[in-house]
Amino acid sequence: MRIEIINTGNELLLGTTLNTHGAWLGGELATLGLRVQRQITVPDGDAITAELREAMERSDAIIVTGGIGPTSDDITREATAEVLGVELITDEAALRSIEAFFAHRDRAMAEENKKQALNPVGADILPNQHGTAPGIYAPPRMSGDRLCAIFLLPGPPGEMKPMFNNEVVPRLKSLADVTDDQQVRTLRFTGIGESDFHNCLDDTLAQIENLEVGYCARPAEVDLRLIGPMDSIVQAADIALTAFPNECFSHTGESLEEVVVKQLMEKGKKLSLAESCTGGLIASRITDVSGASDVFTHGFVTYSNHAKQQLLGVNEVLLETHGAVSKEVALAMAEGALARSRADIAVAVTGIAGPTGGSESKPVGTVWIALATPRKRFAIKKFHPQGREYFKQSTSQNALDLVRRTLME
Ligand code: ATP
Ligand code: MG
Repeated sequence: MRIEIINTGNELLLGTTLNTHGAWLGGELATLGLRVQRQITVPDGDAITAELREAMERSDAIIVTGGIGPTSDDITREATAEVLGVELITDEAALRSIEAFFAHRDRAMAEENKKQALNPVGADILPNQHGTAPGIYAPPRMSGDRLCAIFLLPGPPGEMKPMFNNEVVPRLKSLADVTDDQQVRTLRFTGIGESDFHNCLDDTLAQIENLEVGYCARPAEVDLRLIGPMDSIVQAADIALTAFPNECFSHTGESLEEVVVKQLMEKGKKLSLAESCTGGLIASRITDVSGASDVFTHGFVTYSNHAKQQLLGVNEVLLETHGAVSKEVALAMAEGALARSRADIAVAVTGIAGPTGGSESKPVGTVWIALATPRKRFAIKKFHPQGREYFKQSTSQNALDLVRRTLME
């Protein structure tokens, strides 16, 4: 099935709003086994008309987001009626529901809002539980030599997403004849280079029938996406897991922080963190997970040497002799965090994010990560010279993975 997405809005082209609808819809459609053929962003106003006309010639379904508001540059509804060659008429039920939306909030309804109840003849209104603009579904209609259906969805993400799930998915499934035997599964790996991953798996996975394989490389992570019937997915997952048993942290698409929090809960252990170069990112990731308060005690952000001494009790002599970015200081930070928090596991990171601050012996990207428990302590060295953001993300990934592996033992 050929699906195209048209996102409308000047803000998307000006770069003031990130076009998250394109990415989100692509991901949701992929889980149905459907692929987006093309995604286009157009400004508010007339441009949508020509774009719709073109897209109809080559698509089976078009999903448009935005431009169905009450203002004069919201003309997606009018453009759709024009390209379909039909009139717009007021849908009485839609009008009543918009009126009710305002009445319920004790607000007066502006005259302009009435145009949101206009519907191209032959199209269905898609109810909007979270806003005023109803969506529209124009069932497949002949265009050139193919049948094309059109969905118009509102711009605000909080309105677009539920409408997609409730109204678009069931219709697309029946249009595309999606059978339930098409599944998607994402396995996530860390601690393995992307090229090793490809070299090891590509040829074997290519031999599995009806399987579509996709990779996504992220900082210190590779995701393997498997799409196909369940038995093909299971076969492929077995191969990947046999090749990289310790590197796979999730079979179901969970994030590394979710996995770590779950492990800590299962084992009844508590974690504390001492962060220098990541500035609290690891703590932030842990606290993104619901239930983190049961397992996370302290996050020390000790950016300066003074803070490392004051909050973690790192010996001044260690800092002077070895420097803040060293195995010795990383270990002392982890031990300090463990002693002060009385957690079961403490992890510390200290490194040089760059672009300044590097030296020949300690180049930008160098980072020491230490782990301490009441029974053991160790540190590893990593190197992530690809820029601050990448450095911080990769380092947080390495640190969380150290906790995961320790808890696996
Ligand atoms: P209405 O709000 O009446 O439905 P509309 O459909 O044109 O009108 P907009 O006013 O253009 O919607 O957008 C509403 C909000 O949704 C804005 O904050 C806008 O930045 C955001 N938005 C619109 N399109 C996208 C997109 N593709 N990705 C992320 N955010 C978007
Ligand atoms: Mg808009």
